[in-house]
Amino acid sequence: MSQFDNYWRAQLEQRAGDGLLRQRPLLGSKQGVQVVINGDPILSFASNDYLGFAGDARIAKAAAVAAETHGVGGGASHLVVGHHIEHQRLEDELAAFTGRQKALVFSSGYMANLAVVSTLVGAGDGVFEDKLNHASLIDGGLLSGARFQRYLHNDAVSLQSHVDRFSKRNPDTSSRKLVVTDGVFSMDGDIADLASLSTVCNTERAVLAVDDAHGLGVVGRQGRGTLDLLNMSEEHVPVLVGTFGKAFGTAGAFVAGSAAMIDYLEQFARPYIYTTSMPPMLAAATRRSLKLIQEADDRRERLNRNIEYFRDGADSLSLKLMASNTAIQPIMIGESASAMSVSSCLKEQGILVGAIRPPTVPKNTARLRITLSSEHSIEMLDRLFDGLAIAKQENYL
Ligand SMILES: *Cc1c(COP(=O)(O)O)cnc(C)c1O
Repeated sequence: MSQFDNYWRAQLEQRAGDGLLRQRPLLGSKQGVQVVINGDPILSFASNDYLGFAGDARIAKAAAVAAETHGVGGGASHLVVGHHIEHQRLEDELAAFTGRQKALVFSSGYMANLAVVSTLVGAGDGVFEDKLNHASLIDGGLLSGARFQRYLHNDAVSLQSHVDRFSKRNPDTSSRKLVVTDGVFSMDGDIADLASLSTVCNTERAVLAVDDAHGLGVVGRQGRGTLDLLNMSEEHVPVLVGTFGKAFGTAGAFVAGSAAMIDYLEQFARPYIYTTSMPPMLAAATRRSLKLIQEADDRRERLNRNIEYFRDGADSLSLKLMASNTAIQPIMIGESASAMSVSSCLKEQGILVGAIRPPTVPKNTARLRITLSSEHSIEMLDRLFDGLAIAKQENYL
């Protein structure tokens, strides 16, 4: 017991009273479309394992072989003695994959984003973020000490007006401006209008940073991500972040860009410097995954088939879909309690769909976040439709 326990208890009770208390479903199997949660088998539409690589035996084998050879622990931070040859190879391969001079590997996407945004700008600079950016990008902006502003979702006109205001107040041309956006938005599934954002950046001498956690591996040629899909080069988007916890099916993240930027981050990014390196076996597993991703056109085709099939089926049920053509297919509900009701109704039918509530999404925009995988069969999607139809009959939807 600490003297703060009463305060913590009260906060938890309030959160429970608001219907916003969250549970951790207990996963008793490997990740995939068919999992065991709290001891029961369930059909899952809730993970970010878009290509079914999280439980892939070839990637597990690469990890096991590397663990045998190199052990498990990184043992030190990169700048001390934790930078392993497997990390270096992964960075070289990621640089080639993204067509950039260099890449830098992190243990998680949260840390990569914290490092990038908080290190590339500082006091006297401006950082401009989409309202719906991932929490890690927002936190990086707050930590940076730069003037932090959020523009309307995917709205280059709103960005422009924020930048204008900043420039008026800060005529000093040495102040840097960083514009930060998700590539594919994690809770809405829509894709950033990178062309328009990049036009604003060009005229305003701002630098555009894209976090493509949900695009890499999934969209673009050979899974090269949102930039490839939208024909955006490094000139348009100098700062590219990718993560391994989603389509790659492993864990960790990277930043790719010019040698100057990566060298700078290596020296100055505190979330990079003051942490133990990712286990080398994980770097080895991710290298295997990077190869598989590039050869996974068949999986991407199946995923796209599933996206189309899902949207058609949801349309027939008159469900409120969002403007997404990616693997993230939210159904907008509104009230948190209603989203929970649909989610539990589905769970009773052996179907797992996440109910996403504030503070993860804005107030009154609670939603079901359905994520599709290449490994879902048409029969599985039909089961989901049956479940949603029942939730509808019961007036939960
Ligand atoms: C998941 C996610 C992250 C965080 O990555 P982790 O490796 O899970 O820490 C960052 N950005 C976006 C957009 C994400 O969806």
